[in-house]
Amino acid sequence: MTRRIDNIIEAPGALILGAGMAGLFTALKLAPFPALVLAGARPGRSGSSAWAQGGIAAAIGEGDSWQSHAEDTIAAGAGTCDPKIVELVAREAPSRIEDLLAFGAPFDRNADGSLALGREAAHSHRRIVHVRGDRAGAEVTRTLAERALSNPSIQILEGFHALELAVENGRVRGVFARYGTGHGTRLVLFRAKAVIFATGGIGALYAVTTNPLETRGEGLGMAARAGAVIADAEFVQFHPTAIAIGRDPAPLATEALRGEGAILVDETGHRFMPAIHKDAELGPRDVVARAIHREIARGHKVFLDCREAIGARFADRFPTVFEICKSANIDPATQPIPVAPAAHYHMGGIASDEHGRTSLEGLWAVGECASTGLHGANRLASNSLLETLVFGARAAKDVRGTIATQPAQGTPPAPERFNAPPPPKAMREAMTRDVGLERDEAGLKSALATIESVERAGAGEPALLNMTAAAKMVTAAALARHESRGGHFRSNYPQTDAVAKRSFFTLADAEKIAADASATTKSAACL
Ligand SMILES: Cc1cc2nc3c(=O)[nH]c(=O)nc-3n(C[C@H](O)[C@H](O)[C@H](O)COP(=O)(O)OP(=O)(O)OC[C@H]3O[C@@H](n4cnc5c(N)ncnc54)[C@H](O)[C@@H]3O)c2cc1C
Repeated sequence: MTRRIDNIIEAPGALILGAGMAGLFTALKLAPFPALVLAGARPGRSGSSAWAQGGIAAAIGEGDSWQSHAEDTIAAGAGTCDPKIVELVAREAPSRIEDLLAFGAPFDRNADGSLALGREAAHSHRRIVHVRGDRAGAEVTRTLAERALSNPSIQILEGFHALELAVENGRVRGVFARYGTGHGTRLVLFRAKAVIFATGGIGALYAVTTNPLETRGEGLGMAARAGAVIADAEFVQFHPTAIAIGRDPAPLATEALRGEGAILVDETGHRFMPAIHKDAELGPRDVVARAIHREIARGHKVFLDCREAIGARFADRFPTVFEICKSANIDPATQPIPVAPAAHYHMGGIASDEHGRTSLEGLWAVGECASTGLHGANRLASNSLLETLVFGARAAKDVRGTIATQPAQGTPPAPERFNAPPPPKAMREAMTRDVGLERDEAGLKSALATIESVERAGAGEPALLNMTAAAKMVTAAALARHESRGGHFRSNYPQTDAVAKRSFFTLADAEKIAADASATTKSAACL
């Protein structure tokens, strides 16, 4: 980075980037080891975490077991889950729920005081802890933020936008971050012996997404630009039932509605899922999302019909979805909800091991920005918040055991919020059109060309380079995978290969794939 550094802050312990569930939980598990948490937006309201509706999966119900949770996770993952990671997550899940209860998470309870457990698609037991129906993300993140803000070993700085990793002698030593607006924009170097990324997913790189617009792959892009290995980037999960009322981001109609018996119908009232999958609306997310996508591509409209299954209980049982519907003049108790698939979750991310360590010394990654091998090619619902907790705890333990605290230096300024450039429209549209639910060679090559032209037009703006790097990782990995599996469907390679393999690429690999794609497109044009 060639710009003038206005301030250097030496963090006494770990530097955590992101204040969603992964960042906040990691900070709390590090305590009393000191943590400095940087967040673009307000802790407790920031990232996808605050928007999660369903809940968190853990095998704590009667008759359930960690083995059953692991089996369901592996079945959803379409052959590329890492069984060792799946086992440790399923085994540790009940302890992480205990941690949340100890922090004060207000999970719903039965009349006898036991935790109320919901059931979601592809889970063979009721094992989802939830809060007031569909408010798990908001309430748990708020609880963690309150705890973190009152913990003396945790310092949270809001309003800083991270741009680039600081790498010194081959080791990650901090993060460059911007704050302020216009001519008042300042650059700060935050230095730390351990940097933990908890920067969330990539949804807003797509034009149609359920994710908040701050969730645009910048952590993944920053790590890739510093040379980190990125795993399974091609595996993006599309939520089948975003509410199609023309909003960006698209609000979500939680999977739990289908768990309660809501059905998918077209504009004539025809229920199409039973002919497509034996579990109908409760089939795997990718199958249901693709079925809806194809109905819409054929010119139909698709609706989630909750009238019979939920009806008058809707407002009490699903208050968030009810409010969203009401704001669009839809009464879900008496009217079907218009839905369409939207980019929702990234199974891929910064390759990280069972301790959250990445391929870069000094950098850990937890939560959605990481790819641990838990989800394989398709995430099982409600396993992602769980992953933030399991790896938050593990990374915290690892950092505490390997890094010594040091004296803090420098005084962080009180920042004015920095408004990062939004992801360019042309790139978002190309991602939705060409790197979405059905991908083909020509579309993926065209998306790579769009990403590269956006990158060139950005004239080195680092926030933009992080987004284009993330988009390039996803698209190049999708072009390199010549099969269909889980969230990745190639219309010109519809088969699933007998041997399942995860993908591991660096940005240099992705750039080579993009260069080869451009060369073959040009030579085909010359024929
Ligand atoms: C609508 C919706 C519903 C969902 N429902 C569920 C559910 O019921 N169960 C489940 O398990 N999962 C669910 N998910 C997925 C789950 O919410 C996410 O996977 C999880 O919250 C990710 O947590 P995180 O802490 O890794 O990232 P996030 O919560 O997204 O937090 C990322 C943080 O990084 C910060 N950040 C990013 N880039 C920068 C930067 N450059 N500079 C500074 N800060 C930065 C952001 O400001 C934010 O604080 C849902 C997702 C959505 C969108």
